[in-house]
Formats: sequence, structure tokens, C-alpha cells
Amino acid sequence: MAAAAFFTTRTQAGAGEIKLIAPGVWFREGDLQNLGHSNNIIIEMKDYLIVVDANFPSGARLTMEAAKRISDKPVKYVFDTHHHGDHAYGNSVWTKAGATTLAYIGVTEEMKRFEPNRWQAAAKSRPDVGDLHEPAPEPPTQTFDKSPFVLKDGSREVRFYFYGWAHTRGDGFVYLPKEKVLCTGDAVVNGPYNYTADANIGNWPKVVRSAQTLTVEHVLPGHGPSGGPELLDGQARFMTELHKAVEVAIKSGRKLEEVAPKVVPATTTITLPNNVKNWVGPSLPGQVRDTWEEITQKTPHGDIPH
Ligand SMILES: [Zn+2]
Repeated sequence: MAAAAFFTTRTQAGAGEIKLIAPGVWFREGDLQNLGHSNNIIIEMKDYLIVVDANFPSGARLTMEAAKRISDKPVKYVFDTHHHGDHAYGNSVWTKAGATTLAYIGVTEEMKRFEPNRWQAAAKSRPDVGDLHEPAPEPPTQTFDKSPFVLKDGSREVRFYFYGWAHTRGDGFVYLPKEKVLCTGDAVVNGPYNYTADANIGNWPKVVRSAQTLTVEHVLPGHGPSGGPELLDGQARFMTELHKAVEVAIKSGRKLEEVAPKVVPATTTITLPNNVKNWVGPSLPGQVRDTWEEITQKTPHGDIPH
């Protein structure tokens, strides 16, 4: 899930476009604003394709069409970077087409925690989910608990990493060491799309800093355009600055209701430095509230019952 979906109907630059990042590695930017879709990555192996993120069912179908245009090799693996609907609710669309859905074990555990409630809510608001007539999201068919999990053939090596709890407890990264490509899911986004409800906000920068130990030239985020390693640094700094600013407000005796009052449209008195403004948008008041709860309750936000 990403914050700020549907806040505008403006056509998002790059949405639906397929971009070649390195030989055999394609990036498809999902239309977040109109369709709620995540980005997808298609990786060509010797005999098959790997797709990063199952997307919503409608996004799964669009990515499947894109994969067919790119190559006649079958999609063998679809990696869920985390459990959110825009990254995993298309699982059954892919398995029906013969693919194996793959994830870090934390994705299945998050589904056990939050489902089928969220699926049932999505089925009411999204025809692509409702039309499947399934009672719950399909969990990944194959999971790993040791990081990295590696797929490799004569043509390429693909590593799947888990670095800890940032956006969700299941955050998986996909790394291509030869091509220096890193797919981050929503642990790193390019734009004001950070969704913090299921997050461990205090731990988030540490997870991104761990990913920065890899040699990276191309960063393919869960939402927003592709970029370079500056996205990793910026994303880690945004979470650090958010946490710091909220902590300062708490320590100076401010009240949550004055810092981020529950009004529509949401506002906040918290401001963040200019060097993280790429990540600052309409979701900042909500992110401030989530961070406030996490700090004052001394519990990762995703563990606080709501
Ligand atoms: Zn998400």
C-alpha cells in the first residue's frame, strides 16, 4: 500500500510505461493515482521470467500482457515484496497462469495478521478484487526465511533479501549483483508515497542503510519513477527527519492535537528539511500521527492495535 493514492486524477507521468533498465530488466511504472497500482519489474532469465510484485489483479493482468510483449518465455516466479493489496492481491491471477508466487516468510505472517479483513474491504471497493470471488488473498506459494534466497542460472543471478521491519514485517528486496539493480518494494519509494500504518518507523532507516551496503546503480522503487542510489539515501533521511521532528515536538511538551489535528483536509505544524522534500506530501499529517503513537507508546506503529 502507498499513501496518497487517489488524491488526484491528474495523469501520472510515466504510468504504464515500460522502461529497459539493463539488458533483460524492465521497469513498469504502475498508475498509482488512478488505479492504485504498484510498479513492476520483469527480469529475464535463460528459460523464464521473474516478475517483482503481483500488483492488484488488474495490475497483474497489465503486467502479464507487458511480459508477453517483451518475451515469449513464461513467468515462472512472481515475488511479493510485501503483503499489501497493491503488491500481493494479484497472486491468484499469476498462479492460475502457472507462476509460483514467492516471498519472504514475513509476508505470509502479515497476511495471517491482517487478512481476510482487508481483502473483504477491498472486494467492496475494487471490482478487480471483488470479481475474483475469493474469500481471502492467496498467500505466496513458496517462502524463504534465510536471507538472501538466490535464483541463478547460466544467464543471471537474482538475490532476495530481508533486512528487517521497515514498511511492513515482510519487506523483501530484489538485487541483481551483476547489473547493480535493486528493487525495493515500498521500503523505498520515489515521491510522497510512504505509508506508515504497518511500519516500524524508528527501524525504517536502518533497513534502508542495510540495503545501501549493496553496490547499486539503479533503484526500482515500489511507487514513483526509477532512480539511482540517491533514492536510498533520501528515503532513509526522510524517515530519520520525520522521527526526529516528532520526537522534538513531544519532548517540548506539544500536544498531538495541536501538531497534527484531526481535521479534513489533514494538516500538521511539523516541517521537514528541504533535502527530503521529494517524500513530503499530503500524507505528512498521517505520518506524523503514526510516528507520534510509535514514540509515545514505545511500540512499532504496526504493532499498535487500531
Ligand atoms: Zn505497501
